[in-house]
Amino acid sequence: MKRVAICPGSFDPITNGHIDIVKRSLRIFDEVIVAVAVNLKKTPLFDIDKRVQLIKESLKGLENVKVESFKGLLVDYVRQKRGVAIVRGLRAVSDFEYEMQMALMNRRLDHEVETVFMMPSEEYSFLSSTMIKEIASFGGSVKGLVPEPVEEALREVFKLKD
Ligand code: ADP
Repeated sequence: MKRVAICPGSFDPITNGHIDIVKRSLRIFDEVIVAVAVNLKKTPLFDIDKRVQLIKESLKGLENVKVESFKGLLVDYVRQKRGVAIVRGLRAVSDFEYEMQMALMNRRLDHEVETVFMMPSEEYSFLSSTMIKEIASFGGSVKGLVPEPVEEALREVFKLKD
């Protein structure tokens, strides 16, 4: 049976750190679904369709990856996709508390869903979508931190240097 993993998140926008985690997941699982959350509480920079489109463009050429958006409870979505695991990235100790709380809550909601944590390459361990948006909003360069389609999209929103 195909072992499917779900990589959920806001991906506003996708960074090279996220891509690192997706690629690592593909070494363990047969298929990875990048699941973009429609989060009604957060006001995103990029709307849901744009975020999905940017991820698709950024992952072009990678096999066994799908990109979708989802609404509602993550565990319901995982069950619907017959996923065996939720994959989350752990950058630093500061991520741990929130991630553990979420993993244990998801287990309580569905005891069959496992959460797997992966460490990104250290060159991305300081990277977050929030920081990318902050740098870009002040016109700083995000080269090498985000895939090219994202850099282009940020360039359209903010006036980026080179
Ligand atoms: P959320 O709003 O659910 O935290 P994000 O898009 O910020 O969504 O993150 C999705 C997942 O990717 C989370 O597991 C997060 O820890 C992970 N992640 C974010 N940035 C990085 C990075 N630079 N390296 C590794 N994992 C990351």
